[in-house]
Amino acid sequence: MQQIKTFEQLTQVLELALPSPLQPFAPDWLGSEQHQLVIKRDDLIHPIISGNKWRKLTQPVTQLASSSPKRVISFGGGFSNHLHALGYILRQLNVPFTALIRGDYSNNMTPMLSDLTQWHCELRWLNKITYKKRAEPDFLNKLHNEYPNSLVIPEGGSSTDAFCGLEQMVNELPLDIDYLLCPVASGGTLAGIARALNRQNRNCTVIGIAVLKGQNYLEQLVSDLFNNANGNHKGQEKTREAQQSNNNFRILHDYHFGGYAKSTTELTEFCRAFSAKYRIPLEPIYSGKLFFAARELVASGFFSAQSKVCLLHTGGIQGAR
Ligand SMILES: *Cc1c(COP(=O)(O)O)cnc(C)c1O
Repeated sequence: MQQIKTFEQLTQVLELALPSPLQPFAPDWLGSEQHQLVIKRDDLIHPIISGNKWRKLTQPVTQLASSSPKRVISFGGGFSNHLHALGYILRQLNVPFTALIRGDYSNNMTPMLSDLTQWHCELRWLNKITYKKRAEPDFLNKLHNEYPNSLVIPEGGSSTDAFCGLEQMVNELPLDIDYLLCPVASGGTLAGIARALNRQNRNCTVIGIAVLKGQNYLEQLVSDLFNNANGNHKGQEKTREAQQSNNNFRILHDYHFGGYAKSTTELTEFCRAFSAKYRIPLEPIYSGKLFFAARELVASGFFSAQSKVCLLHTGGIQGAR
C-alpha cells in the first residue's frame, strides 16, 4: 500500500472532486418560484465511487490509509453500490478486499460483481441464513480468526463511523438552507446529516425520501444509530441528542414506488426526461425517487414560502447499468 499521511493525499490519490459543487436549480416545476432550490452534487465527487458511499466511507478509509490492515472485509447484495465503491477504493490503495455477498451470483454475475472481480476482490457467497448473522459477535470472531488483522466494515457502510464524512458534507453547505432532501435506504446518510446539523445548531430540517417500504422500521434504524453514537444500546431510553436529532428529520414513505429497486413507467420516464432537460443524470433507485418526490412536494406547498431547499444528489449512477 502507498504511504498516505493526510486526508488531502488520500483525496488526490483517489482523484476525488471535493468539496462537491452546489448548483442553483430553477426547474419549470409548479410552485418552484416560491423557493430557492439548489442541488448538492455529490454525484460529481467521482465517476465510479458513488458520492454517498464516499461520504460514509470517509472515516474508515482515512483510518485504514494510516493503519494498513492486511485486508478489508465487508458485506452487501449483488447490486451493492457500497461494495462497488469500496472495492474500487481498495484497489487504488492496494489493500486486499473480501466481499461477503448475500446469495450466490457465480452463474449470473452483476456488473458490480464483475467489476469487483476485475479489481482482484475475493467474492464469497453467503446463503440468507448465514448472511443474517453478519453483525453477530460469534460470526465476526470467526471471521477475524480466518482473516487476522483485517478491518470489517458493516453492510452499506452504515454505522456511526459514517457520521464523520457526512458532517464533512454538511460543512460544505451554506448556512441558510431551510430543508435538505436525501434518499433513505439503510438510514446512515440521513442519521449522519441530522446529527451534524443538530451539533452545529443549524435551523435546517432533513426530509428523507424512503426508497423502500420501511415505515417505522427506517425511523427505528435511524434512532438506533443516534443511540449507538452515544454508547447506548438498542431499546434503551433515548438520549438527549437522539431526541433533539429526532426533531430535525422526517422520513416520507409515499415515494418508494413499490419497494427497493422497484420502478414504474412514470418514474423511468421522469428520470429520462429530467436527465435530458437539465443535463443531470438520474437513476430510478435513489436519485430518481428523490427528485420525483421533490417535484411533488414543491407543487403541494410542503415547504414554507420563500424557503431555501437543498436536494442532495447522492450519486449511484454506475448502478443504473
Ligand atoms: C446507498 C445509497 C443511498 C442510501 O443511503 P443510506 O445511508 O443507506 O440510507 C442513497 N443514494 C445512493 C446513490 C446510494 O448508493
